[in-house]
Amino acid sequence: MLKPLLTLTGGLIATLAVTAAQAKPLSQEDLSVAEVLRDRALESSDAYSIVESLTVEVGPRRAGTEGDRRAVAWAQEKMKKLGFDRVYTEQIDVQRWHRGHAHAEVTAPFPQPLVVTSLGYSAPTPEGGLTAEIVEFSDVEALIEAPAKKVKGKIAFINKRMERARTGEGYGPAVQGRSRGMRAAAEKGAAALLLRSVGTDSDRFAHTGMMSIDGVENPVPALALSAPDANLLEAMLERGKPVEVKLDVHNERLADGPSFNVIGEITGREKPEEAMIIGAHLDSWDEGTGALDDGAGVAIVMETARLIAELPQRPRRTLRVILYGAEEIGLVGARQYVDAHRGELDNIIAVSESDFGAGKIWRFDTRLPENKFDIADQMMQLLAPLGIERGNNQSSGGPDSSVFVAQGVPAFGLYQDGTDYFDYHHTPNDTLDKVDPDNLKQNVAAWVVMSFLAAEMKEDLGRVPTEN
Ligand SMILES: [Zn+2]
Repeated sequence: MLKPLLTLTGGLIATLAVTAAQAKPLSQEDLSVAEVLRDRALESSDAYSIVESLTVEVGPRRAGTEGDRRAVAWAQEKMKKLGFDRVYTEQIDVQRWHRGHAHAEVTAPFPQPLVVTSLGYSAPTPEGGLTAEIVEFSDVEALIEAPAKKVKGKIAFINKRMERARTGEGYGPAVQGRSRGMRAAAEKGAAALLLRSVGTDSDRFAHTGMMSIDGVENPVPALALSAPDANLLEAMLERGKPVEVKLDVHNERLADGPSFNVIGEITGREKPEEAMIIGAHLDSWDEGTGALDDGAGVAIVMETARLIAELPQRPRRTLRVILYGAEEIGLVGARQYVDAHRGELDNIIAVSESDFGAGKIWRFDTRLPENKFDIADQMMQLLAPLGIERGNNQSSGGPDSSVFVAQGVPAFGLYQDGTDYFDYHHTPNDTLDKVDPDNLKQNVAAWVVMSFLAAEMKEDLGRVPTEN
């Protein structure tokens, strides 16, 4: 492109062009390769067939279960087939739990069944179940502040609605009841916890999910109610008479056991010891097939690496795909990875994770040192045509990435549209039909630009100062 200009006006233009090129961290050649990758992704990437394979051939894969073991085998085989240079696993230790049946019914004053599901690692009821009066709280804070005598022997009902938002920002406030509610109920001597599902739908599905359980001395049964069933209880309570509910829950805590992070690499041609880490989590909750959470993410990052592996040469640094184990029960795989590799964190150029469903990417966030923003600006040249806007510099890089970010590792965040993500999240309704193949192509197009350029760029990104 510069050639005609050079011959026309000679030295001055050439000097200016070279100076301008040197000021930019990513070369024109890097950007051209990334552009080709992006356009190939839009045309020919097939992340959909990967998430289809995972949901059909494995399905539910809660950490420490038989499904989890099959997912680990599936992931290794798939990575080898897709042309990764190196595929391996790293063992992690996980707490294990068996989900038995969970029944709930109103026994008075208006007897009828309720749709519920156990929250993760919920205790069982005594044999034969338990029946107790409901006491309602607007949120977990209200439960924590309540006098114990108001709660003792009763079923605490946290009735907080979650707000819908493209960013998913309603989740943070709503999930407090799930993570902290059972502990608060148990400490006040409640018989059990009932929680309005953390979700945005009005389907008659309850949303499961993890609670904080460590150190709770006498854990009590903890169940989520579907939104319509929470409405029903609310309406009964408004009538002013005591509402009694019977719960019958058969769960069981099992001995701790192994799970695995599954790791695949495209080996760097110049600095193989340095790596750009892209990830997703392999485990899922057990009632759906984990298509959105996080089968889509698994597919997006695997397909991204496959496209980069098709290039005539390897990128300068290693591209490392980590499929984290046991994310859902507390970022277990990521925490144990960072612990095991503490001495090598300086070799990780940056991290990013896809774990917010399968919606279109609309925003590009970062966590970079301030003198590295020009790299993101250059990436934006190729992301903007995909309908992506520049966001903020507070990205966590995704749940598992946040463990690296806490150690100063830079992060990129390709933010998906999460408007309806929490309609399906952690329910039996998280299934393949919610995944749009064209949206996945747009995702892969953005991921391949970001991943290739981060692995290929000449300079590195330094470290981001951490708060503590
Ligand atoms: Zn997830």
